[in-house]
Amino acid sequence: MISKAGKALNGHLDHRNPLVFDTHELGRRPGALQRLSRSVDAPGPPSVLGIEGVIGVPEGAPVELDLRLESVMEGVLVTGTARASAEGECVRCLEPLRQEVAADFQEMFSYPDADDRGRSSKAEPADDAEDDEDRLFIEDGLFDLEPVLRDAVVLALPMQPVCRETCAGLCSECGIRLDENPGHHHDAVDIRWAALQGLADTVQDGEKDNMGGAEAGVDEKQEK
Ligand SMILES: [Zn+2]
Ligand SMILES: [Zn+2]
Repeated sequence: MISKAGKALNGHLDHRNPLVFDTHELGRRPGALQRLSRSVDAPGPPSVLGIEGVIGVPEGAPVELDLRLESVMEGVLVTGTARASAEGECVRCLEPLRQEVAADFQEMFSYPDADDRGRSSKAEPADDAEDDEDRLFIEDGLFDLEPVLRDAVVLALPMQPVCRETCAGLCSECGIRLDENPGHHHDAVDIRWAALQGLADTVQDGEKDNMGGAEAGVDEKQEK
């Protein structure tokens, strides 16, 4: 799925979009390298950096990008790291949480004229078909990092974020936060425990009867 977020109205990549990068300075000589850093605002819908309703980098929050562009025969190999602060909620206790995320990525942006070099046709089986769909291209010397950034950040985020590893979550009976209420419990009698209690009473009575033995008759007479 290739996002169109970096596109201008005419369908071309917009060089003013902070997630669109220019490769003209790098040039097309294989082996050429360029390093660059850029701070961008996290994009909003439909390109949210995160897992909706779970955890994500809020729209407009700063994302620090460190990129390494390497010119290769068929395009530009982009290697980098994105650092940002994600916000979400603990899956156990539902308290809001914030987590630093560092997402690494590496992606090849191909020159359109190198399209079919060493590639099998789209008629090939599933493996390659998926590859082709996900291929990213350089357009007019520009590439759009947004889909790469989004995938990398989503992968780097926890699917089940917790405020801390030891979070005890909520009481299953009343919903109180257990970490804030150490020793919290309910006295309601467990039906299985009640059954054991009854059994224990029976055993005690039985033992009494046995131990009572010969005197049992005496006791009975005294009671009357
Ligand atoms: Zn928690
Ligand atoms: Zn409770």
